Amino acid sequence: MTDFKYFVEQFDDIKILRYQVPAFERLSLREKLFVYYLSRAALAGRDILWDQNNRYNLAVRSLLENILRDYPGDRENAAFQDFLVYAKKVFFANGVHHHYSMEKFIPTFSRDYFLELTRASGIGQVEDEVMRLIFDPDFMAKRVVLDEGKDLVAASANNYYEGVSQREVEEFYRLKPGEDEFVTRGLNSTLVKNAVGQLEEEVWRVGGKYGKQLERVVAELEMAARYACNEAQERCIALLVEYYRTGDTRLFDQYSIEWVKENEGRVDFINGFIEVYGDPLAYKASWESVVQIIDEEACERTRKLADNALWFEQNAPVDERFKKSEVNGITARVVQAAMLGGDCHPATPIGINLPNAEWIRERYGSKSVTLDNITYAYDAVSLTSGVLDEFAASGEEIRLAREYGYLGGNVHTDLHECLGHGSGKMLPGVGQEALKNYYSTIEEARADLFALYYIMDPKLVELGVIPSLDVAKCEYCNYIRNGLMVQLTRVKLGCNLEESHMRNRQLIASWVYERGQADRVIERETRDGKTYFHIRDFQRLRQLFGELLAEVQRVKSEGDFEGARHLIETYGVRIDPDLHREVLARYERLHVAPYAGFINPEYHLVERDGQIVDVRVEYPDDFLAQMLAYGKN
Ligand code: ZN
Repeated sequence: MTDFKYFVEQFDDIKILRYQVPAFERLSLREKLFVYYLSRAALAGRDILWDQNNRYNLAVRSLLENILRDYPGDRENAAFQDFLVYAKKVFFANGVHHHYSMEKFIPTFSRDYFLELTRASGIGQVEDEVMRLIFDPDFMAKRVVLDEGKDLVAASANNYYEGVSQREVEEFYRLKPGEDEFVTRGLNSTLVKNAVGQLEEEVWRVGGKYGKQLERVVAELEMAARYACNEAQERCIALLVEYYRTGDTRLFDQYSIEWVKENEGRVDFINGFIEVYGDPLAYKASWESVVQIIDEEACERTRKLADNALWFEQNAPVDERFKKSEVNGITARVVQAAMLGGDCHPATPIGINLPNAEWIRERYGSKSVTLDNITYAYDAVSLTSGVLDEFAASGEEIRLAREYGYLGGNVHTDLHECLGHGSGKMLPGVGQEALKNYYSTIEEARADLFALYYIMDPKLVELGVIPSLDVAKCEYCNYIRNGLMVQLTRVKLGCNLEESHMRNRQLIASWVYERGQADRVIERETRDGKTYFHIRDFQRLRQLFGELLAEVQRVKSEGDFEGARHLIETYGVRIDPDLHREVLARYERLHVAPYAGFINPEYHLVERDGQIVDVRVEYPDDFLAQMLAYGKN
């Protein structure tokens, strides 16, 4: 995947990237056709999400599309460029509110200029409410409001409720005597007040609200079903289709259960009303879809680790009393995204764990996947963003990162997830509540230390998980550089570290830095006023990771609250203000956009003599063109 262009463009705080799907080429024709139709189903529900995000979003989008297509005037001047940035931001966020901060975008062009654009593009009168949405900063200012004390339903600009108050919604969905608690409720409807003042659900189904879009999703899913990998997947699709037709959430629960159990197919998919982050009350789910191809090679790696879970447990540098005599490694599935849709596009998660219904998870388990072609694209772009060159201590460190950074990061994650969290045991009578608010930082530190200790073990080379210990050296450099410097770019000057993963990284990095000072294991250097942390002795550093692992495991196993507090408060919370200021200034000069999203690939049927003989994948590189094409279809 070397000469592929991952970075496409950057506007405001957004980077547009591309991802590649090498696993697609290894599929049979039948599997490729499965991906093809699932991908069409993944795109067919896009308008649902736009409307869910705000009731005027589709009207705004249609104006933007119209202007981009028909405006005959000057497109080079500054005003039009401002309009273009606004349009791209709206396309990226699937609406007029920022996808992450939820704040409304405020145009940097004038109202008059916008009206001139619409007139010249042959657009008639623009609705007053639509104009207010675009230009009035106080009107529908935030998509999801979570401030305590407000009526969250009334204050949020999303489109899940109409004319109802938070109290009414909560009462409507409160579990009443006799109602089954093991049924998903309220997930797929808009709650409105009808003409006589009663609350009523407008259910999202074929023939109901969003009927037109769901009809298309269903048609594509039915085509896809013909090429399903196995009968279990056929059953899944049949249940999903029936659920889209009837709106009956019990069918969705059945589908989720079948979907969790199916683990054989080389192609898998998510399609439905899934995540509830867009609703402050967490009842209503936004529509999303991901089509995935199992990455056999990467799964092979996690399988090798899981198969040897007991060896890793027995050889860990911790007290024998804290070791398990039996361990089950978890085989997390590694997949490549083949298509992203709805709430997973253009911004996308890198890992997904479903279903969300807690009772299904408890009874039937969940499926956990990481999208490794997406993380690959992020990694490829980060290598050229300038951050590595700015903060790496030496040319050798940069060389290692370019060659092994991606593999090192993945193996670290594998060790952390498949073995680290599952390792070790508590002493009898000790529960995780003993560590209170320090529990999650200690637990993350334990999993990270397990990974850092073992990534430098010759056993990993022997198992064929890594080609050489240079991968481990690379990971050590990345970890120290990130823990002591790069991650600080996500924190405002004067603030402490709050998030548990960030705390754990600084805790580990600064603890080993301090302990290794006498032996110069990691040296702090200053060149041209810039700070660098240079690792001098990798083997000694590994020992230090092992020593800290032993201590962190002891703290967890014994439930030593004071020990946890001491470690975290001493090493993981406070930031050296001088170093922080320096790091922020160095980062600022690189102009790296903090958020990223993706252009999807395109799939085309290849026909010969009236027969479909192949499916071709193409990687377009024009974000706006893809957005306009999606709008047209
Ligand atoms: Zn973790």
